[in-house]
Amino acid sequence: MAFQLPSLPYDFSALEPVIDTQTMQIHHGKHHGAYVTNLNNAIAGKAALEAKSLEALISDLSAVPEDIRVAVRNNGGGNANHSMFWQIMAPKGKGGGGEPTGDLAAAIKSTFGSFADFKTRFGEAATKRFGSGWAWLVLKDGKLVIGSTANQDNPLMGEAVCGLGGKPILGLDVWEHAYYLKYQNRRPEYITNWWEIVNWTKVAEIYQSSK
Ligand code: MN
Repeated sequence: MAFQLPSLPYDFSALEPVIDTQTMQIHHGKHHGAYVTNLNNAIAGKAALEAKSLEALISDLSAVPEDIRVAVRNNGGGNANHSMFWQIMAPKGKGGGGEPTGDLAAAIKSTFGSFADFKTRFGEAATKRFGSGWAWLVLKDGKLVIGSTANQDNPLMGEAVCGLGGKPILGLDVWEHAYYLKYQNRRPEYITNWWEIVNWTKVAEIYQSSK
């Protein structure tokens, strides 16, 4: 069974004005779509790889033959990263924005001091990632950790592969394709505005299932 491009859980225009409609159309249909197509092409005919879940596939890149390992890393990571990204956003004021509650809020406070401090540190990770990549909040050995990865690397690939290990709880795409049409070179403004569309209910679900 080939991997499929998942539908967005909202309209292309739903994240306006934080993320514009055209960016969402191109980002989902063209960029994410290409990662799915290229991943399927890379593993086509390799039954052992085709039988794996996406998470299992990228969690053990050493099991992928060398000649397609880079393709699986880039396109499997791209598929996993974007599939999560769409889920953890929601329209501003309609599921998006605000603050986490419950266990996740308590863990953020005990780890980073306050929600404001957490946002500052996550924003720094996202701002300082040079070139293309992702900022992450991960659960590693039962603790929350902020970090970033290059390109389409995902923390499930492991620290030895991509410099950050753990289960991703929250991820922010800082590739220029995620923001350039609206924000041009103003990545910090995109990051600041992005908090208004984070779906903390979904993030808390991911946190609970990752514990
Ligand atoms: Mn992207």
